[in-house]
Amino acid sequence: MNKGRLIVLSAPSGCGKGTMLEQILKDESFFCSISATTRAPRENEIDGKNYYFISREEFRKLIAENGVLEYAEYCGNYYGTPLKPVNEMLENGKNVILEIEVKGAMKVKKLRPDTLMIFILPPSVAELRRRLNKRGTESAEVIEARVAEAASEIKIASQYDYVIVNDALEVAVNDFKAIIKAESMKTEFAGELIDEVIKNA
Ligand code: 5GP
Repeated sequence: MNKGRLIVLSAPSGCGKGTMLEQILKDESFFCSISATTRAPRENEIDGKNYYFISREEFRKLIAENGVLEYAEYCGNYYGTPLKPVNEMLENGKNVILEIEVKGAMKVKKLRPDTLMIFILPPSVAELRRRLNKRGTESAEVIEARVAEAASEIKIASQYDYVIVNDALEVAVNDFKAIIKAESMKTEFAGELIDEVIKNA
């Protein structure tokens, strides 16, 4: 069986990444890694589904045991990617999506250079602020911190392989699928296919 592809999907908070992922994950060839975080759960979030919500002490233990592929601090909380499920799912042929911020993303790129790096852009920073206010899950102070973080994250977008603007959801999801399709046709992944065609000449 072919191994799956590791995909990093980064987007500033409020870019509509969650809704995009819901659509993408309808395709069972994708698996989204569940991160561990020290952030408190939002009202609608479920432990083990959205995140593993753990204490700072538990997080430190996870790092000490080499249990994370990467981790980073974001707006005062720790977030990390549990290593084991990622490796297992890749072995099972799934395309594994890491929905992570830019610092962690850059670490993954260094550790595993064949990772497909995709950045989701909001149509504008003003629109991002509007979406965060509309979501209403954070205080005004946290929203401003997230908008500031977003502005600095967007500057790093050029280090990714692809950018997608999430203005209209359906278009953004189709753009994502187009990238995956084009990537799957790259010659570096077509060794077996080429051999097969030659064999039957
Ligand atoms: P939120 O608090 O809005 O759920 O997430 C805040 C930021 O942390 C988002 O940019 C999200 O992509 C990022 N994030 C979530 N999980 C991880 C992780 O495991 N590692 C890193 N580096 N960032 C993460």
